[in-house]
Amino acid sequence: MTRISPDGATPAMAQWFTLKAENPEALLFFRMGDFYELFFDDATAAAAALDIALTARGNHGGEPIAMCGVPVAAAPAYLSRLIRRGFRVAVAEQTEVPSKGRPASKGPLARGIVRVVTPGTLTEDELLEPGRSNLLLALVCPAGADKGKRRKDAPAEGAALFGAAWIDVSTGLFETASLPATALPALLGRLDPAEILAGAAVELGDYEARRAPEATLPAPGSARQRLAAAFDVASIEAFGTFSDEESVAAAMAVDYVRRSQAGKLPRLAHPIAQSQNGVLGIDPATRASLDILRARDGGVEHTLFTAINRTVSAAGARMLAEWLASPLTEVAAIAARQEGWWWLKDHAARCAALRDALKKAPDIARALGRLSLGRGLPRDMAGIRDGLHAAREAARILAGPDGGDAARLPAVLAHGMGWLGAARALEAELHTALAEELPARLDDGGVIAAGYDRELDEHRVLRDNSRRLIAALQTEYATRFEVSNLKIRHHAQLGYVMEVPVGASARLKDNPDLILRQGTASMARFATEELASLNMRITEAAEKAALREKQVFAELTAKVLAERELPELAQALAMLDVLQSCAALATGGTWCRPDVREDTAFDLQGCRHPVVEAALPRGARFTPNGCVLAPERRVMLLTGPNMAGKSTFLRQTALAVILAQGGFPVAADSARIGVVDQLFSRVGASDDLARGRSTFMVEMTETAAILNQAGPRSLVVVDEIGRGTATLDGLAIAWSVLEALHSTVRCRAIFATHFHELSRLVDTLPRLCLHTMAVREWRGQIVFLHEVLAGSAKKSWGVHVARLAGVPAGVVERAGRLLRELERAENTIPEPLPLFDTQKTLPPPCENTLKKRLMEIDPDSLTPRAALDILYDLRRQA
Ligand code: ADP
Repeated sequence: MTRISPDGATPAMAQWFTLKAENPEALLFFRMGDFYELFFDDATAAAAALDIALTARGNHGGEPIAMCGVPVAAAPAYLSRLIRRGFRVAVAEQTEVPSKGRPASKGPLARGIVRVVTPGTLTEDELLEPGRSNLLLALVCPAGADKGKRRKDAPAEGAALFGAAWIDVSTGLFETASLPATALPALLGRLDPAEILAGAAVELGDYEARRAPEATLPAPGSARQRLAAAFDVASIEAFGTFSDEESVAAAMAVDYVRRSQAGKLPRLAHPIAQSQNGVLGIDPATRASLDILRARDGGVEHTLFTAINRTVSAAGARMLAEWLASPLTEVAAIAARQEGWWWLKDHAARCAALRDALKKAPDIARALGRLSLGRGLPRDMAGIRDGLHAAREAARILAGPDGGDAARLPAVLAHGMGWLGAARALEAELHTALAEELPARLDDGGVIAAGYDRELDEHRVLRDNSRRLIAALQTEYATRFEVSNLKIRHHAQLGYVMEVPVGASARLKDNPDLILRQGTASMARFATEELASLNMRITEAAEKAALREKQVFAELTAKVLAERELPELAQALAMLDVLQSCAALATGGTWCRPDVREDTAFDLQGCRHPVVEAALPRGARFTPNGCVLAPERRVMLLTGPNMAGKSTFLRQTALAVILAQGGFPVAADSARIGVVDQLFSRVGASDDLARGRSTFMVEMTETAAILNQAGPRSLVVVDEIGRGTATLDGLAIAWSVLEALHSTVRCRAIFATHFHELSRLVDTLPRLCLHTMAVREWRGQIVFLHEVLAGSAKKSWGVHVARLAGVPAGVVERAGRLLRELERAENTIPEPLPLFDTQKTLPPPCENTLKKRLMEIDPDSLTPRAALDILYDLRRQA
């Protein structure tokens, strides 16, 4: 932004300069009457982003001041667009009420920033996605590691750890974690935060664009004190053990939230330290390749989430997304979820009733968030009332007709039910307190029901009686002044006046009881003393009623916030929704309850890819496939042409693990899965040219990440390792990676490849098994059967696939001829590939120098240039 000096500003503009200086990074929404106005560069930027007119107002420093504005009533829609485009917005309101007779010489009304709207601190429904969390994440380097680059300096696991804390202001969720540098990308991928606070030394990779502009780090001691004060406890140890880094991150997040709400802290759950141990490790590349919550195109339609989501409430959808983003590794916890939905599936009628009750449950967590910030709308209060009602209904349904089932419920349902009964008295109170028909805003009046508050009723009676008296006056005046079509109307500036046609006005204007207030071409408006005094009574009573109504609403808000169990109740409703969603899914019969166990079994029968299946054209059938990676055959080499269904098979296997460990039903006839601790999936080309890395560089970086991190309990599914370079390099790399997975990492793996030559490794690698995608040749055409069979592919079918893709016939025919010639000439290539014939030509696999070189490389510390040099070097050696 160009610096503009405040010198010589008008008083209003001087106020603008002061407020702007408080939040220079944000656009300033400056309240003027019914508009938020923007000035100078803010105006230029906002007008362009919102596609609204840019005008000018007055002069500053000899130049006209650029200006644009948005109506206050439509502000949420505009804010939403600005936030999505990466802006932050500081909202300045008038903090002084304009009073009658206030001299202009007092200068502009006082204004103050009431809020800074940032992506990670949103509360309004208009700005939030209903089914997704909206997280603010704070990250803190371990002490001493912030001097240089994070990765290099990061201590080994188990030593100093990063501190992370995340808050969802809209629901009050607040969690923290301690984790090694290597786990940061996975955490970012899992949380997908809307905004990140982090010191400059913390690298955020793909999430860099979400970094908040400022991050002030408190000292650990003061961080703990500030947190304790925020939650009104003597020490935060009351909530568990937090490392210094975690406390600093938590305090940083809380401070930022407080600043964004102009000093007011919304209601937050107390921080809960999360162990990263119980969560399946999924790194960002894996997440990106599996389309779990978002598809690669950025949408949600073709995602695992959409394929399995049968929730009926926004809070349920959010929890489903959280479970999918962080599957578990503890068998007992997974089994508890399974038991919950299995029971509901077995009690179909009750499950249906529960679903109906949950459909009526509003978003309690988000309503609470707004109420706690004093931003609650009448419908938020009604949301609490209806949510409590739905909770009571849900508890009644779970307990069964005579209440006898409560003791027999699976633990997870019983636990949820335990919360549902909370806040009965509040529910009853809200029922009597709120009017049946609620206005959109508190200012509109009529929120509190008649009969709830005596004082409010009295003001209203006074107001309404006076109104009635006025209505009665119309008939009286018509007779008295002999004007049959005389009307008494309320006028914005004049208050209640008598309106007569212009013909009658000449006769009446000298009447001593009447005061002419306004005349137009067609009629005249008169006031009377009677009208004026009634008017005054009405205005006074209405003002008092409005004020009292606000007080009553504030008292109700305080009562709602005093119910400490409401957040848990909201969580319980959300969980029931997720469990009924699972039951609904499993009811179709094509989804199974997986057997998740402690060993390293892996046996999927009749498994499907739920997203690809859902996207198949009408009439097409998805071919289910089994996948067995038994301990003695735990690495599968999968060959087959393009388009035969390899990637689909790889992804569906990975998705089955996510579903099984999330506690969900799996799209298979049966599934037995030994708990996977880390899942790695590299399927589909991922170009990263925007960050200046070639496809091959990305591929090798990701391969390195797998080889460095995967362990014997991991599952690795990789597609076409080595495709991004020349054939020989590629084959050599694929070979050595396959060997490393098989013999060093010893994980369960599916390795899809075009290098059919690798099939010969089955003779030397004892735990390798060969599979191929079935294809049939029919009248010279290729038919994909999408079936995974034992064995390996004999042909690549590349030329056929080229024809299918519409490559011109001449080119395809020429390629076919060339291929036959090349195949014939294979034996006459001067230097035949010395791959599988003898041990003499290449060192034995384990001693493979290429592999050794590869393993010595630390890809994270390489510059792209150094990596390329190594590659050229490797090529020379190959
Ligand atoms: P590849 O990775 O071998 O090139 P894909 O897995 O991308 O092949 O599959 C290509 C297309 O084939 C998919 O988009 C899908 O329409 C179809 N397909 C894949 N697997 C199956 C299956 N098991 N049953 C039915 N259609 C499938």
